[in-house]
Amino acid sequence: MPNQRIVLASGNPGKLREFTALLAGCAIEVTPQSAFNVPDVAETGLTFVENAIIKARHAAQHSGLPAIADDSGLEVDALCGEPGIYSARYAGAHGDDAANNRKLLAALTDVPDERRGARFQCVIVYLQHPHDPTPLICQGTWEGRILREERGANGFGYDPLFWVASEQTCSAELPAERKNALSHRGQALHQLVAALNTTL
Ligand code: IMP
Repeated sequence: MPNQRIVLASGNPGKLREFTALLAGCAIEVTPQSAFNVPDVAETGLTFVENAIIKARHAAQHSGLPAIADDSGLEVDALCGEPGIYSARYAGAHGDDAANNRKLLAALTDVPDERRGARFQCVIVYLQHPHDPTPLICQGTWEGRILREERGANGFGYDPLFWVASEQTCSAELPAERKNALSHRGQALHQLVAALNTTL
């Protein structure tokens, strides 16, 4: 049987790398939405789940294929869960990682080490078609702590500021395979792959 073609509703190169690595070996052929010239869609939801559904529905509509979308972000305890669903646009422009990290460090200047707890959240949604009333919804969480300065050159986004106690290193210092094995996105994708393997 030929592989199931699925459109991936993301243009973020960091996420695309992680999705491709994590879905290798599945009976799925993932095509990024850029191949279908899918325009950006406003993420108007107030939760990760809502935004992931908005993105997946939009990609399915434009491509005519089943769609996977993720919505993810960083929740910082000392900031009452911010930047949360606004993580990509925390400093204003969408996807300006350097500005987001500077803003986060500034917001936490006076916060002591023991109060710098944080976690990455990831929700991944799979829709068979734009009107699919029963989306597959998978969720992963990765606990950590926010450092006082950036470390490492791997990953993307807030990785250079995310300390992973179990590894005694920073997320941006982890090899890609190790990050994928531990991360919020890795956890959610493993759930998705298990679910897809029983339904496709
Ligand atoms: P989204 O594209 O709307 O889901 O935005 C997610 C944002 O959350 C990214 O732009 C990053 O700022 C942050 N983020 C999500 N996952 C990660 C990760 O694995 N490492 C670092 N930052 C992440």
